Amino acid sequence: LMQLFRPLDLLGMVYRTIRQGLVDMDAMFQLIDTDPEIKDRPGATSLAVSDGTVRFENVVFAYDEDRDILHGLDFEVPADGTLAIVGPSGAGKSTLARLLFRFYDPKAGRILIDGQDIAAVTQESLRGAIGIVPQDSVLFNDTIGYNIGYGREGASPAEIQEAARGAALDEFIAKLPDGYDTQVGERGLKLSGGEKQRVAIARTLLKNPPILILDEATSALDSRTEDEIQATLARISERRTTLIIAHRLSTITHADEIIVLNDGRIAERGNHASLLAQNGLYAEMWKRQAEDRQLEQV
Ligand code: ADP
Ligand code: MG
Repeated sequence: LMQLFRPLDLLGMVYRTIRQGLVDMDAMFQLIDTDPEIKDRPGATSLAVSDGTVRFENVVFAYDEDRDILHGLDFEVPADGTLAIVGPSGAGKSTLARLLFRFYDPKAGRILIDGQDIAAVTQESLRGAIGIVPQDSVLFNDTIGYNIGYGREGASPAEIQEAARGAALDEFIAKLPDGYDTQVGERGLKLSGGEKQRVAIARTLLKNPPILILDEATSALDSRTEDEIQATLARISERRTTLIIAHRLSTITHADEIIVLNDGRIAERGNHASLLAQNGLYAEMWKRQAEDRQLEQV
């Protein structure tokens, strides 16, 4: 019988969390897939972000007891710096992002933000400090203005418009029948993948978090739209700690450090130039993608 009640419990929790506006909607949908064991510790305090340094200390993680997915990851994203994670699909890149948002707790090791173990702070304060632009954004069946404004409760129309401008959405919205009041989503105007992506970016601009996670945020876009959005992403990641999970290597050549993740282990690390010089996995991926880019241009 308990098994029957469990999903209902979870739905109730999801509903309450949405009502309370505690987490991003994108995060919300992933929550359904979350370990219900994740709770605030008794007496958990608020995360105090000073410069936004993120540290993974020997992080081991498994979804199922008997199969480790991450085998002891050790790295740091320096304050205001950019760390890029690349590697084959299934390597554990998204898992690592989910751990930073604390959808799960590590099996061993710790994740620290400015020296504070994220397992010891309130989830509300942790998630308030991190913005995620995921691969597939989900929209509410509501107006486009509402969908952007969701990034920060109580945002004014002027602030919403500014965020839309930052995500290169303002001209698009100006052409809609009801402007910011246009209904979008399943029961309204269907937005393209690129437009939804920009809504997620606008939402994140509004949230203005000190720490940013981009998980293959542009992989579904054609390369021209990607170039357009890339400029915005580069701008918003400029003065904040950024973890970029990237499919296209051409988008992360500027990163302070690049980690090549393979099978839950760091296979290579360095900057773009040093990784090319190593002539390993990264160099091979780069060469393959350069060939693809040439094909696209023919
Ligand atoms: P990437 O983002 O690098 O493609 P993921 O982090 O999504 O990789 O997945 C890493 C591994 O973890 C894969 O083998 C995947 O099948 C497994 N995995 C991902 N999510 C779950 C889950 N919710 N339950 C069990 N295994 C999962
Ligand atoms: Mg992934």
